[in-house]
Amino acid sequence: MEVSASASGGRALITGVAGQDGSYLAEQLLADGVEVHGLVRRDDATTYVPEGATLHVGDVTDPESTRALLNDLGPDLVVNLAAMSSVAQSWSEPELSYAVNAEAAMALLETVEEMADNGHEVRFVQASSAELFGSPTVSPQDESTLLAPTNPYGVAKATAHRAVAEARARGLHASSLILYNHESPRRPATFVTRKITMAAAAIARGEADDLALGNLDARRDWGWAPDYADAMVRAGRAEAPGDYVIATGVSHSVRDFVAAAFTAAGVDDWEQYVRVDPDFFRPADATELVGDASRARRALGWAPTRTFEQVVAAMVAADLG
Ligand code: GDP
Repeated sequence: MEVSASASGGRALITGVAGQDGSYLAEQLLADGVEVHGLVRRDDATTYVPEGATLHVGDVTDPESTRALLNDLGPDLVVNLAAMSSVAQSWSEPELSYAVNAEAAMALLETVEEMADNGHEVRFVQASSAELFGSPTVSPQDESTLLAPTNPYGVAKATAHRAVAEARARGLHASSLILYNHESPRRPATFVTRKITMAAAAIARGEADDLALGNLDARRDWGWAPDYADAMVRAGRAEAPGDYVIATGVSHSVRDFVAAAFTAAGVDDWEQYVRVDPDFFRPADATELVGDASRARRALGWAPTRTFEQVVAAMVAADLG
């Protein structure tokens, strides 16, 4: 079944609206004529505030306030993007990672189910993650791959992912998108891609001469973030809910990303600027994550629109200014 991403109308609540994914999602929904509400934290650092969205200050870790907001707004769609999204940070703050990435999602689901019981159908889309699979032994991974997370972020995301499946089994229109890495000029510099593109641009301008990185051999499936927002819209509008891997199906190493970024910035010989710093290695790190998005292709009509090289070039161009 093909799902159009251009249906219009309705009201959506996006948690984490000011982040990379939330801002692209809000822009797409607003363009489709959806009334967009977004939850932002008072001290939100990542602020790509989408024009036209109504912002509500709150925190998903405070379930009473999100319950009140949901009941007050009565949205047709809730997309849960509020997350502590850095794997690296989840090692230093595991409890916070669990509170935000697992418990808050479960509390939202509970409220949405209560609303359904009271006769108001709310569709739910959860941003899940390839980190569910830990260091998988099968490649590429799909929706049937064993959940075996190896870091606090993945453990929390796996808990939320299972909670979505359970709510779906009880009849809720709840989908979980197993998102592989997705990048853009709005990606925070805590992620390796943006760290690299910012450094390549600074080196090209003569403002820096050094880039310290961790594991250069890790391979990730890097896509274009607005495509992943489009998948969320499609999942919300699909007749039936489900779990969907959202990925390009192509992996590259961190080293490949560095080489492509320096080339795009017009800097030769990236090896002379990059040094490996053990501080950036992780206690556990998947060698390769690469996803098979066949189900999303078939059921949602979803496909990535940009290649790895195009993603890198767009990020470097934005950082060169
Ligand atoms: P993640 O896949 O969600 O953890 O996204 P990241 O962009 O943070 O990391 C992607 C990969 O890059 C991981 O395998 C990291 O170990 C690797 N990596 C290598 N050097 C760095 C670095 O300096 N910073 C970060 N964040 N990751 C790095």
